[in-house]
Amino acid sequence: RDSHETTTSRRKDDDSPVHGLSKMIVVGVLGGGQLGRMLCQAASKMAIKVMVLDPSDNCPASALAYDHMVGSFDDSNTVQEFAKRCGVLTVEIEHVDVATLEKLEQQGVDCEPRASTIRIIQDKYLQKVHFSKHAIPLPKFMEIDDLEGAKRAGDLFGYPLMIKSKRLAYDGRGNAVAKSEEEIPSAIAALGGFDRGLYVEKWASFIKELAVIVARGRDNSILCYPVVETIHRENICHIVKAPADVPWKIRKLANDVAYKAISSLEGAGVFAVELFLTTDGRILLNEVAPRPHNSGHHTIESCYTSQFEQHLRAVVGLPLGDPSMKTPAAIMYNLLGEDEGEPGFKMAHQLIARALGIPGATVHWYDKPEMRRQRKMGHITLVGPSIGVLEARLNSMLKEEGSENQ
Ligand code: ATP
Ligand code: MG
Ligand code: MG
Repeated sequence: RDSHETTTSRRKDDDSPVHGLSKMIVVGVLGGGQLGRMLCQAASKMAIKVMVLDPSDNCPASALAYDHMVGSFDDSNTVQEFAKRCGVLTVEIEHVDVATLEKLEQQGVDCEPRASTIRIIQDKYLQKVHFSKHAIPLPKFMEIDDLEGAKRAGDLFGYPLMIKSKRLAYDGRGNAVAKSEEEIPSAIAALGGFDRGLYVEKWASFIKELAVIVARGRDNSILCYPVVETIHRENICHIVKAPADVPWKIRKLANDVAYKAISSLEGAGVFAVELFLTTDGRILLNEVAPRPHNSGHHTIESCYTSQFEQHLRAVVGLPLGDPSMKTPAAIMYNLLGEDEGEPGFKMAHQLIARALGIPGATVHWYDKPEMRRQRKMGHITLVGPSIGVLEARLNSMLKEEGSENQ
């Protein structure tokens, strides 16, 4: 990003944007994507003001934010300027300028979760080192600096071998799989070589991927949301089923691993813990996000307290809310861009129209300025009496799509 970008804000007044109100209720969010947007929606119910910092003047959160400062969350001066206007700083993306957050904390700025947490999480290799030190079960992993190192890792871990970028990863961009030693060079080239910093993970042969949203309050109280199953397509979260259809013992194990992982990090907020349930019945941690997460979108309709409301409660220092489900089951379906531009919008609109005819369905549209293939444009949540019933409703919603396209 351009670090010399000029910053503008809709509100031109001064450093205390909410006259007569405690500054504490002004939550500054680094990033203004769909997570920031849904934080704004939750904030409006609770008399909390959300300010966002995002470089794009029509980012998803912009229209719903109390204020939007246009600028880079990866630029030191901009983040410092933004922090002056907020009672507490939080993130909706972990790829922010963490050195500045550390400096701000030293100056007394309240960052939730803590900069130390963002630093650990934004580097997936550091994250793995941290969790292994805390005895959290993980796929075996190792840093690689050159081709020889990658081949040694392949000898040790076997194939397929998962090669990952340490930093700036999302939606699987930053992962490459080598099915054999011969494929190592092309996999590494696909990740842009060794410059960005790479490491490898042993392949996790999983039966299911699970996730747990964990909330921690400023008083360090910790609450876990019900364990969900996440289904990925081409590395992108596609469907989430809540609760996960796994034996009680597995749910307990997933919960315990998630609780322990988040206990090892500092600061308030919600966190997402992505997990693998392996063929031999183990739970391994994949990665943690220090913010609301796609696997928790269903909570808006299905839980007493949504993950977005919970995050705000946590960072502001309000009591945490009940994370349990108020409906027996929920399925979340991501609306991923199917085509560029107008044709993509048309397909999304057709699907939304069908969703609105399904009982218990709620549509969320993120209002992203551009439609792109595989981009998360919105999501649909179905709530109802059981996962079986919801699967049938989801299938009927999607089947018509196929027949219309033929
Ligand atoms: P996110 O959008 O969740 O931040 P990301 O880009 O950080 O994604 P990962 O979560 O590391 O990527 O991996 C994406 C997906 O790739 C996982 O959800 C899982 O399906 C698969 N995957 C990741 N690591 C492994 C592994 N060690 N073995 C097998 N599959 C894996
Ligand atoms: Mg990730
Ligand atoms: Mg992930």
